[in-house]
Amino acid sequence: MTAPLLSPELAAWLHDHAEELDATPALAEQVVPQLAAAGLFAIGVPQDQGGSGGTVVDAIDAIAAVAEHSVTSAFVFWGQRTFIEYILQSPNAALRDKWLAPLMRGEYAGATGLSNAMKFLSGIESLQITATAVDDGWRLDGSLAWITNLRKAGFIAAAAVNQADGGPPAIVAFTSEAAGVVRSGDLDLIALRGSNTAAVKLNGVAIDAADLIHANAREYLPPVRPAFLGMQCGLSIGLARASLRAAQTLAGNLRGPLTERIEALRATLENTVDELKAGVADGRFKTAAAPMFKLRIALADIVQQAVQLELQASGGKAYLQGGDQHFARRWRESAFIPIVTPSLTQLQMELQKHAA
Ligand SMILES: Cc1cc2nc3c(=O)[nH]c(=O)nc-3n(C[C@H](O)[C@H](O)[C@H](O)COP(=O)(O)OP(=O)(O)OC[C@H]3O[C@@H](n4cnc5c(N)ncnc54)[C@H](O)[C@@H]3O)c2cc1C
Repeated sequence: MTAPLLSPELAAWLHDHAEELDATPALAEQVVPQLAAAGLFAIGVPQDQGGSGGTVVDAIDAIAAVAEHSVTSAFVFWGQRTFIEYILQSPNAALRDKWLAPLMRGEYAGATGLSNAMKFLSGIESLQITATAVDDGWRLDGSLAWITNLRKAGFIAAAAVNQADGGPPAIVAFTSEAAGVVRSGDLDLIALRGSNTAAVKLNGVAIDAADLIHANAREYLPPVRPAFLGMQCGLSIGLARASLRAAQTLAGNLRGPLTERIEALRATLENTVDELKAGVADGRFKTAAAPMFKLRIALADIVQQAVQLELQASGGKAYLQGGDQHFARRWRESAFIPIVTPSLTQLQMELQKHAA
C-alpha cells in the first residue's frame, strides 16, 4: 500500500482551521469525526478486522500528513489510532469486537493515558491508579494528570493500574459513562487547545475482565511500544516537513548557506524517516528499544532546526502579530515535541541506563 494522501476536503479543513485548532477549543469536538470521515483511523488495521489494510508504517505516514497541517489534529489522530493499536494487540477479542468498529468510524474517541505506565516501567514514577479486586472484577481509584482526546461526546481511555493485591500492573480500559469517571475541564494549554486534553479522576470505577487490555503491563508494553512511538514520530515528521517547505518557499530561488542548510536538513529528515519506518516494519524495535529512542531524539532535533530555518528564512515578518501565523503556530506546536511521552529527558535517561 502506498502512503495515503489526505482527501482534498480534509486537507482544506485542516489548513483552514489549523490556527483555531491550536489556539482555541472551539473545534475540539470536530476533529475525530473529520479524521474518521476521511477513513484515517482504519489505516494499518487488517482488512479482515474491518480496516483498510496496510501496516503501522502507513499509519505513521498518515499521521505525518495530518501534522503537516495541524499538530493538534495529528495528536488527536495519534491518541485514537494508538488506542486502536492497543486493542488490536490485546488478547481480549471481546474488547476488540466491541470497540474496533466504533473507534474506526470515529463514533467514540480513544485516549491513551499511558505516559504514567511508560514512566513506571522506566522506574521514574509510581502508578497513579489502583485496582482493588471485588467479587466480579476490580474497583479503580486514582487519577491521570494529562490525557488527550477526552472528547466530551464520549471516550474510552487506556490506563495502567497497580493491583492492590500485589499482582502485576495491568492495562485496562474505562469509558466516560462509567460511574465515578470525572473529566476535568480542558487544561489551559499554550497550544494544541483543540485536542480535548484534560485530567481525569477515577473514584471507585467498576470494571471487569471484559475491560482488561492486558493483565501484565510489563509483558504487553514493550512489543506495543514501536507502534506507540513510531506513530508519535509522525508528529515530528509532518511538522518538520511543513517548516522546511515553508522555509524553502521563503528562501525562494536564492542560492546560499540558508538554502543549503534547508536542503541538507530535508535529506537528513527523509533518511531518518526511512530508518524509522524500516525498523518498525521489520519488528527490530520490539526487542531493541535504544535505536528507536535515538531516532525519536534525532527527529525532535530536526524539528527544532526546521522551525529555526523557517524563522531565519522569513526574517522579521515572522515576528509580527498578524504576520505569518503559520510560523507562530508551528513554533508553539514544536514546543510539544520534546515533552510528549517519552520525553527527551526520559529517553536520554533510558539511553544512559542502556549504555551502563
Ligand atoms: C498537550 C499535552 C497533551 C498530553 N497528552 C497526554 C496523553 O494523552 N496521555 C498521556 O499519558 N500523557 C499526556 N501528556 C503528558 C506528557 O506526555 C508529559 O508531558 C510527559 O509525561 C512528560 O512528563 P513530565 O512533565 O514529568 O516531564 P519529563 O520530561 O519526564 O521531566 C521533566 C523534569 O523532571 C525531571 N525528571 C524526570 N525524570 C526524572 C528522574 N528520574 N529523576 C530526576 N529528575 C527527573 C527532569 O529532569 C525534568 O526537569 C500530555 C502533555 C501535554 C503537554
